Amino acid sequence: MMSKREEAVELSQNGMSMREISNELGISYNTVYGWLRKPKSGKTGDNADRHLCRTCQYSMGSYRKSNAGMNCNYIGITGKKRPCKPESCTVYVKGERLKDKEDE
Ligand code: SF4
Repeated sequence: MMSKREEAVELSQNGMSMREISNELGISYNTVYGWLRKPKSGKTGDNADRHLCRTCQYSMGSYRKSNAGMNCNYIGITGKKRPCKPESCTVYVKGERLKDKEDE
């Protein structure tokens, strides 16, 4: 069974607009936009749109995000440099945000 996201991608490839997909699948326009927008950077990869970062245990809380758009706190939590680029992240773990090593 296809997920709503996969359905949205397929409908988009068939020429439907984001608004039409939103109505067709009964989900908000903003959600569809988040799934289908092209990354500003032009970078490619499974996480090019940073959707994984939203549910990742290494993500910073929004109150700590910098204006530069930094969202990953892998180094603060593990004490190690992330071994991958964010757009093709290999260390993603779904879960509640973890605290910094220093905060423990
Ligand atoms: S570890 Fe990867 S998925 Fe998690 S916040 Fe950092 S870049 Fe995003």
